[in-house]
Amino acid sequence: MAHRILLIEDEVAISDSVRYSLENEGFTVSVAYDGVSGLASARENPADLIILDLMLPKLSGIDVCTALRRESSVPIIMLTAKTNEIDKVVGLELGADDYVTKPFSTRELVARVRAVLRRADGLRDLDASGTIRAGEIVVDTARRRVTVGEKLVHLPLKQFELLKMLITSRGRVVTREALFQTIWNTDTTYDTGTLDVHIRWLREKIEADSSNPKYIRTIRGVGYKFTAEDDVPD
Ligand code: CA
Repeated sequence: MAHRILLIEDEVAISDSVRYSLENEGFTVSVAYDGVSGLASARENPADLIILDLMLPKLSGIDVCTALRRESSVPIIMLTAKTNEIDKVVGLELGADDYVTKPFSTRELVARVRAVLRRADGLRDLDASGTIRAGEIVVDTARRRVTVGEKLVHLPLKQFELLKMLITSRGRVVTREALFQTIWNTDTTYDTGTLDVHIRWLREKIEADSSNPKYIRTIRGVGYKFTAEDDVPD
């Protein structure tokens, strides 16, 4: 399945050439030309990666990035017009995964996109059949089947979705808000207890010792992080 990329860039010459290059490489691309519609598009139709220009009409790239990071861990590559437009560090402090300085070659940008996609969201663990492996856990996303070692584990839909979201963000913190909004839907009232209960049930099913979890780690005050023993420690 082609990766979906959302490009938020108001300069038509750039957005056209970037879109063309990415589509040529087999990506599915949608384009937004200002911050407000870009943010709306990201929310309505989640992408696998977002390329976000810093200087945008209506809502700046900084504001879009900040808003997105509050609710999702989607990989973001920032485009900056010139090096002193923003301290490069700021772009990454915002939670962006990478940045490219204008003018850039589309070839360079495509290479960055591939690198970020590989790194992010556990794609290195996702094979063509939609199966994700981490440690002893195998999640078959197409058949909605989970095994831990030799054991088939039956997960209700919410717990399956929780595990899938955590495991595809392997090695990265997923905020409670992002989990809640994705799995229980943005319109639902945020209910901490519900999420805690589902995490506890999920741990009881996949962890050897659910009171001392090795896969789903609690990041106090923020959310959860999926780790497996072959991950590089942070
Ligand atoms: Ca711009």
